[in-house]
Amino acid sequence: MDRENTTTKPADCPPDKSSISVEKVAVAKLPTSRGDFMLAGYRSLISDEEFVVLYKGEMVPHFPTLVRIHSQCLTGDVFGSIKCDCGPQLHKSMEMIDAAGRGAVVYQQQEGRGIGILNKIRAYALQDKGADTVEANEKLGFAVDARNYQQCAEILFDLGLCKVRVISNNPDKLKALEAAGLHIVERIPLDVETEQPAAHYLRTKKEKLGHLLDF
Ligand SMILES: [Zn+2]
Repeated sequence: MDRENTTTKPADCPPDKSSISVEKVAVAKLPTSRGDFMLAGYRSLISDEEFVVLYKGEMVPHFPTLVRIHSQCLTGDVFGSIKCDCGPQLHKSMEMIDAAGRGAVVYQQQEGRGIGILNKIRAYALQDKGADTVEANEKLGFAVDARNYQQCAEILFDLGLCKVRVISNNPDKLKALEAAGLHIVERIPLDVETEQPAAHYLRTKKEKLGHLLDF
């Protein structure tokens, strides 16, 4: 943020509804093995992107609320891949929110840091030959990280939140949520047990992508 520029007003929170580019489509109950949640579906008004939010408890602007922006990882979230830490991160976030009695997980369907599942499998094939996660994306001609979090922040506004405690190890997510106008009260680190195949991936995330991992 440019603190020299005193003419820039801090973003209003919640922002004017007219600046929000997502729309809530439906809300339903979702009981899970990790607690009872509400499930909301959102769609983008400017692209064909869809989002899912798992939340529970009262969503109010002034209460610092646990939130996570979880980027879809089909292999980790659904198949239980041990190449990465995504599945355990998602599940632990749900457990933390359930224990707190309130919070939200925005599930952003930007698979493979935004490159899509087919390209992610291409990247995995290069990783089988020795490339790390960053080198593989670069060899395929993709940005290392093609994700955008603006609409995730807008979904949190739409739910009624302004002050958030963000469950994340990713400094880019924190910066993006702050830039969108959310008040970040605290970062909650996410430490999960990982198995050996994820070790190289996590070292790359720490060393090349700046993730705040404690090892
Ligand atoms: Zn993953």
